[in-house]
Amino acid sequence: SVVTRFAPSPTGFLHIGGARTALFNWLFARHHGGTFLLRIEDTDRARSTDAAVEAILDGLKWLELDWDGEAVSQFERRDRHAEVAHRMLESGHAYRCYASQEELEAMRAAQKAAGQPMRYDGRWRDRDPSEAPAGVAPVVRLKAPQEGETVVQDHVQGEVRVQNAQLDDMVLLRADGTPTYMLSVVVDDHDMNVTHVIRGDDHLTNTFRQVQIYRAMGWDLPEFAHIPLIHGADGAKLSKRHGALGVDAYRDMGYLPEAVRNYLLRLGWGHGDDEIISTEQAIEWFDLGGIGRSPSRFDFAKLDNLNAHYMRLADDGRLTGLITPIIETRLGRTIGPSGRDLLTRAMPGLKQRAKTLVELAESAQFYVAARPIEVTGKAADLVAGDGAALLADLADELRPFDAWNSTDIETKVREFAENRGLKLGKVAQPLRAALSGSTISPPIFEVAELLGKTETLARIADVAQ
Ligand code: GLU
Repeated sequence: SVVTRFAPSPTGFLHIGGARTALFNWLFARHHGGTFLLRIEDTDRARSTDAAVEAILDGLKWLELDWDGEAVSQFERRDRHAEVAHRMLESGHAYRCYASQEELEAMRAAQKAAGQPMRYDGRWRDRDPSEAPAGVAPVVRLKAPQEGETVVQDHVQGEVRVQNAQLDDMVLLRADGTPTYMLSVVVDDHDMNVTHVIRGDDHLTNTFRQVQIYRAMGWDLPEFAHIPLIHGADGAKLSKRHGALGVDAYRDMGYLPEAVRNYLLRLGWGHGDDEIISTEQAIEWFDLGGIGRSPSRFDFAKLDNLNAHYMRLADDGRLTGLITPIIETRLGRTIGPSGRDLLTRAMPGLKQRAKTLVELAESAQFYVAARPIEVTGKAADLVAGDGAALLADLADELRPFDAWNSTDIETKVREFAENRGLKLGKVAQPLRAALSGSTISPPIFEVAELLGKTETLARIADVAQ
């Protein structure tokens, strides 16, 4: 059965490209009812940090990409990696190389001077170990094939090949006995029974070398799918400006995980013209054949549109839970149960317009703001002078009125406007300004109903005195 893995190096946050790789591996495993594994490639001790591991796990959890079993630490498997190198030594597929640093530097300088590519020339490949100089700790190198070619059938890139003469004998174990990255990846993928390696195409050149290790060990190759990288909207390599941020930054910008998943899916995978693809649908449809061959371009507008869509679908109580902390920070006060309840009841009207949770919070906060609410800009003009007098009169009309629902409030306000020979907007706009502090809000009679009679009259009084 299918086994995929996500194998991040914990040297920073879970960036958007990594998240997409994780998503594709997760979808492929879930589609096939297989297993999705997580391996932390923490062999670079100088650059790997616990904080980065946490950030990656948090990012995956936020995206709801659950992995099966415990996360594997590559570093902790180093003895096993070394053991495999020793088996290759025994089987004659690897050899000890005693070339000193100075020697290798001289070799490279000569190659450079001759305009040749810099490659280890295999000088210890066939030498008798008895010739080993005293006091030099050897590295272990793969005895790579020198003739023919290494061919990889890639599910995205098609058939890719390299002349073996172009690859030198790579180091498997360093002089201090530690395994190299190339060896570790192959041993781990083999031991974890990984059937499909789905990763960024920046790893394609590594694949040839990794295939040579599989062959040397007589192991079955996994299937490979190398995904084109993500570019910025302008086609240039993705940078921070383009959206190359950590997944946590997308959370903080107010995107829903399901929107980010849909967006990342479409960023490099397609199913006809479908743009909105639920996660359930994605699991059903995902295949390697749908992965595009050219780099995809990051586009915030598309992400915004998807997020707006998923917010409209989202449960109102959930949205309240997500925006409450944002509003609390903005207003500098806690929102209690009745405030949350009000937000949830107001949510159907609020969520129609916002593109992000941050926008949603901005548009919702007037409901739970303490009186007197802030009325600024054009809204302030509407409630000054004539507007204030008009609202004071309107309040007098509304005060004895008990049927406090949006339809009846609207009828009442319309009557009030007609009696004065005013267009509805001439009354509704100052009312909107008084109740919401803004010139833009959900339908104003709905707002009045939700705020309740007491709060509505109090907000009018705040501006109309
Ligand atoms: N650790 C590698 C990276 O973060 C991934 C290696 C792989 O997927 O084989 O780029």
